[in-house]
Amino acid sequence: MLPLNQPDTAEPGPDFRHVDTWIFDLDNTLYRADSNLFAQIDQRMTDYIARHLSVTVEAAWQLQHSYYREYGSTLSGLIRLNNVDPETFLAYVHDIDLSPLTPDEALIAAIDRLPGRRFVFTNGCRHHAKRVLDRLGLSEAVTEIWDIRTLDFTPKPQAEAYHRVITTGAFEPKSAAMFEDMARNLMPAYALGMTTVWINNGSEWSHQGPEYPLVARRHIHHEIDDLAEFLHAIRI
Ligand SMILES: [Mg+2]
Repeated sequence: MLPLNQPDTAEPGPDFRHVDTWIFDLDNTLYRADSNLFAQIDQRMTDYIARHLSVTVEAAWQLQHSYYREYGSTLSGLIRLNNVDPETFLAYVHDIDLSPLTPDEALIAAIDRLPGRRFVFTNGCRHHAKRVLDRLGLSEAVTEIWDIRTLDFTPKPQAEAYHRVITTGAFEPKSAAMFEDMARNLMPAYALGMTTVWINNGSEWSHQGPEYPLVARRHIHHEIDDLAEFLHAIRI
């Protein structure tokens, strides 16, 4: 407790008092990238493509990453060009071991204090998102999950995905903040007037993929490395 005559000189936290809609990516955003969960999903995508299209693992990996770059997600390319059934693909790639995830008490408390509604906005599937939120102890904290079906299989970072969630959630973009580990997924959010927060986990992919070096950061309002710590520090 400071004496009354001594002003508090501590730096005020970043100002989020205009925000009542909190939008979180799921994978590598609500849990740490070094839990390597996404590596399991990545591996299963490669396996699925190799088996389904009868190509080598190397060819499958190339295709997987070129679709990701071109269409925003691997699935989007597979639907357009290879007539893959999305439900079968989603069930297969998300059938992973979640035991590295444990309840993150700091993050639970940080998200609980946020005023307004909290959403998960993912290119993955709802079933996977629910399992992950359960493991993290965040199921109660999240108002709604927007998954790839909500997006009608048009993934981030395509602008249509953002327009769809704005309609679904019926919110004003200027009163929303979006949290993401993939920097490129924040570009449309910024363009629409949302406050953007990039969780820089140091991976090549978080920097928009190896082929897209992160040259311009104008679309990033805040760059952070610890989501719970940041959410505790902001002014709300
Ligand atoms: Mg992510």
